[in-house]
Amino acid sequence: MVIETRSPEETFRLGEQLGEKSRPGQVYTLTGDLGVGKTVFTQGLAKGLGIDEPVNSPTFTIVQVYEGGRLPFYHFDVYRIGDVEEMDEVGFEDYIMGDGVSLIEWADLIREILPDKRTEILIEKDLEQGFDYRKITITEME
Ligand code: ADP
Ligand code: MG
Repeated sequence: MVIETRSPEETFRLGEQLGEKSRPGQVYTLTGDLGVGKTVFTQGLAKGLGIDEPVNSPTFTIVQVYEGGRLPFYHFDVYRIGDVEEMDEVGFEDYIMGDGVSLIEWADLIREILPDKRTEILIEKDLEQGFDYRKITITEME
């Protein structure tokens, strides 16, 4: 499924809609260059889960846990990961097997330990379509 957005608000709203529909144990991967809108999307998803706390990229930790919504939300940013073994140390397996909703930014970096069943989200720019244009591709993997 491909969705095109033309403002940050539209990308936020798409995240929100997915957050409203998210089920326990759902895993999202989020891929795209710096500044493409991964955090905007994630903030929408958190809102859709009913989380009121501010959500930012977890800069100093690999995972940030939000308990205040309809389901727990585990927000991973693996941008600074050195080795996939670091994911064991933070208990990655327990999170993704749990009843919360997991979202992993820069998931390409830990591709070999991603669960087979996941929802992949790719956000891309296309400057020919304008500065605020984003192409968002959502793929269900089994
Ligand atoms: P990332 O987390 O991928 O590095 P951010 O979400 O922090 O990126 O930043 C995205 C930037 O792009 C924000 O400044 C946002 O306002 C801007 N932007 C412009 N158009 C869009 C759009 N259609 N969707 C998402 N963000 C957009
Ligand atoms: Mg970000």
